[in-house]
Amino acid sequence: MLDVVVVGAGPNGLTAAAELARRGFSVALFEARATVGGGARTEELTLPGFRHDPCSAAHPLGVNSPAFRSLPLERYGLEWVHADLPMAHPFPDGTAAFLARSVGESAASFGPRDAGTYRRLVERFLPRWDTLVGDFMTLPRTSLPRDPVTLARFGITGLPPSTWLMRRFRDERAPALFAGLVAHVIAPLGGFATSAIGLVFALAAHARGWPFARGGSQAISDALAGYVKDLGAEIHTDFEVKRLDDLPPARAYVFDTAPTALARIAGLGRYYDRFRYGASVFKVDYALDGPVPWTAQEARRAGTVQVGPYAADIGAALHSASRDGRAPEAPFLITTQPSLVDPTRAPEGKHTFWAYGHVPGGWDGDLTDAIERQIERFAPGFRDLVLARATAGPPQLAARNANYVDGDIASGAVSGLQLLLRPKLSLSPYTTPHPAVFICSSSSPPGPGVHGMSGHNAAKAVWRRLRTS
Ligand SMILES: Cc1cc2nc3c(=O)[nH]c(=O)nc-3n(C[C@H](O)[C@H](O)[C@H](O)COP(=O)(O)OP(=O)(O)OC[C@H]3O[C@@H](n4cnc5c(N)ncnc54)[C@H](O)[C@@H]3O)c2cc1C
Repeated sequence: MLDVVVVGAGPNGLTAAAELARRGFSVALFEARATVGGGARTEELTLPGFRHDPCSAAHPLGVNSPAFRSLPLERYGLEWVHADLPMAHPFPDGTAAFLARSVGESAASFGPRDAGTYRRLVERFLPRWDTLVGDFMTLPRTSLPRDPVTLARFGITGLPPSTWLMRRFRDERAPALFAGLVAHVIAPLGGFATSAIGLVFALAAHARGWPFARGGSQAISDALAGYVKDLGAEIHTDFEVKRLDDLPPARAYVFDTAPTALARIAGLGRYYDRFRYGASVFKVDYALDGPVPWTAQEARRAGTVQVGPYAADIGAALHSASRDGRAPEAPFLITTQPSLVDPTRAPEGKHTFWAYGHVPGGWDGDLTDAIERQIERFAPGFRDLVLARATAGPPQLAARNANYVDGDIASGAVSGLQLLLRPKLSLSPYTTPHPAVFICSSSSPPGPGVHGMSGHNAAKAVWRRLRTS
């Protein structure tokens, strides 16, 4: 009998497998797709030689993840590569606000009236970032945080809606950038604890940047899988788990899946019926004849570019996709340009670039034109550079990965209490009513992103159970 079977080889499933195998448990992992990776993979989606990341590309949470930092991923080929600026947010006047590694430079990009406010906001937490990120990403906690005072201070600033945090600023630039940060997890700007989301992304930029993985995000998954295999665990691909009986006997089963799928597979009935899925995205991967001709010079140096422009526009686009059930006419875009700093992504002189805007879950329209109109506003001439494009809306995203129910790339709405307490209102989110069944996907805390922390936290719950059973 095996100690542990993991279902799903996304970053969280692979991290859970690594954490358990390195503690001496026998582990086997089963993945539905032909390759490991889930939302961290790389494929030639358009033309030969153009290596695209169909899902994650920029990794503020990955490079700052206590779980990833504790694993020897560099030894297994992971190399983070950084653009000059982690992120830029251009405006119609041809300038941009941005997150640089330096707090001072970033603050200056918000304008003289807001620079001091921004500096005070982040400098309070930055010196204690390493303990704070560990404490924050292991909420809800079953033991005392390492630095309870800083976590409590962060809670006071982070628990209110981001719209409150934005009121500290006098001009439009900082709120626009913060609204964009909150939109990365598709949270409503007025939602509980959304200030914390914006702050975590900003602090992550200053602490360790928003890097790409050299060669593509697949390198993160391949490094995790390489380590897992070296620890003696087996990885089976092309194996979609439909029932618990499909799997070999084990003392524990850990699911890197959507909670509703887990309930179906493990026979948990309606246990997760109240779990809510959220809005989706429409994504375009581009092969380009040259770099994106952003008007704002800072956007030409940034790994990630947010296209809003202002907080009200971003709020309206999110509201349209999440609440009104309509695709926005002017979508808020998150875009990444990995080939600026990673020549392995495209033939010489050419570039890969991706952009996505939010749409309602299950929406089956085509947002390409609206996305390109938005980009053209801030990078005139962009369309002339397009050599090829690959598009994916909610149905295609859901077909690629069963965790993206109706195309929800966060595997569960990041709103209300479900932002922190997911997949159920429970202080033990990784356990289920079945004593041998656990969940470790981004539907559990700390939520979406390639960071492996849900897998890391779930692995702790598993080994505590195995030690005592
Ligand atoms: C378009 C897009 C852009 C994104 N951009 C970023 C970004 O830039 N930065 C970032 O940090 N995050 C980004 N994300 C989010 C990130 O990819 C996810 O939050 C992350 O991959 C979640 O990891 P996970 O391990 O929980 O699940 P997943 O990565 O979704 O992996 C789950 C795995 O389980 C497998 N599986 C599911 N059901 C079964 C079954 N029944 N049997 C066997 N296997 C099964 C799936 O095939 C999949 O491989 C993006 C996501 C998308 C879709």
